[in-house]
Amino acid sequence: MKLLIMGPPGAGKGTQAKILAQKFNLVHLSTGDILRKEIDKASKTGLKAQTYMNAGNLVPDKVLLAMMNSTLTELKDHGVILDGFPRTIPQAMGLSKIFQSLNQTIDGIINIEVDKDVLINRLVERAKNSGRADDTEEVIINRQNVYSELTAPLIEFYQSDIITIDGDGSIEKVTERILKRIH
Ligand code: AMP
Repeated sequence: MKLLIMGPPGAGKGTQAKILAQKFNLVHLSTGDILRKEIDKASKTGLKAQTYMNAGNLVPDKVLLAMMNSTLTELKDHGVILDGFPRTIPQAMGLSKIFQSLNQTIDGIINIEVDKDVLINRLVERAKNSGRADDTEEVIINRQNVYSELTAPLIEFYQSDIITIDGDGSIEKVTERILKRIH
């Protein structure tokens, strides 16, 4: 099974992706986590990504597509849940080429929706303990703007394939809503 989980920063997609990965025995692929590990290793990809990430901007599509091409090819025999990828239309087009070359398709796309005010409050709270370099208020606001400009158009791109989930409420409640819709 190949699932995508989308939503603005702070919507809880990472949390829900982890829960779904465990429940359905999927590999959880968070591009944010993968890139943070690359930065820790000071790899070529990490060095390219760092400045963009610290400012809350997207890492170039080319970098993400090369990284996901090799990761998804390696994991072709596993179920995966993609968290944070694709984040732009060119990435979505690249992803469909990757799946085509592997003779695979996307089985479900979950989009978690949450009001902008709730999101900013959640992220400011998370920032107090996260230790993430991109969790300052200025960068949080930039990440929301980047989402609106570059990632939200994916909702139109995937259209009727999307399962929309209300992300306001407890973690358990949101999981329950997702499970009801994907069974
Ligand atoms: P996240 O942990 O998903 O909030 O991602 C943190 C940061 O990693 C983002 O603000 C981007 O700088 C970078 N990033 C993660 N996924 C992508 C992607 N698909 N395309 C470009 N940049 C990404």
